Amino acid sequence: MEVPDTEENLKKCICMNCPSYNECMKTGMQGLFCARGKTDCDLERLGCICNQCPISSDYQLFGGYYCAIGTDWDEDFGKAIKALIGTTFVPLKVAADIAGDIAENLGAYIPKPSKLASTIISTRISTLKTITKAIEKEITLLEEYKKKLEAEEAKKKEKVKVE
Ligand code: SF4
Ligand code: SF4
Repeated sequence: MEVPDTEENLKKCICMNCPSYNECMKTGMQGLFCARGKTDCDLERLGCICNQCPISSDYQLFGGYYCAIGTDWDEDFGKAIKALIGTTFVPLKVAADIAGDIAENLGAYIPKPSKLASTIISTRISTLKTITKAIEKEITLLEEYKKKLEAEEAKKKEKVKVE
């Protein structure tokens, strides 16, 4: 659910107690990243406490690290998770639906997926696509972070050699 960027919500934000909340964010009096989007500060992911925040439960948020990855993926991901949970018994639903079709028309021995079954299948497909997108995004971010760490590591080694 979209989080409104209000003073009241900002007061409930617990980011300042988070290990990833750093001096740069503090100086900029930043917070409520789940509404305002990601920070422009450099940050190290040292943990996220969004799941303990009242805003998280009030607006049914699914993720965290909004300071690092922004907000646009959360709603899609949430929908995807809900759809996935709702379709846990897809094979049973599809089977029952097809059986219903057969019962209605005993002359037809080749079961056709009904509208309900095809809707469930379409939902399932779009769910999987959305989850794939979220995973791909996370992989890209992790790769970027890894590259940054490696570059920092290389710089440190250079420095040690010079000294
Ligand atoms: S969910 Fe996270 S970013 Fe949003 S208000 Fe709570 S602590 Fe801050
Ligand atoms: S969004 Fe999550 S990781 Fe970022 S400062 Fe807030 S609680 Fe910490």
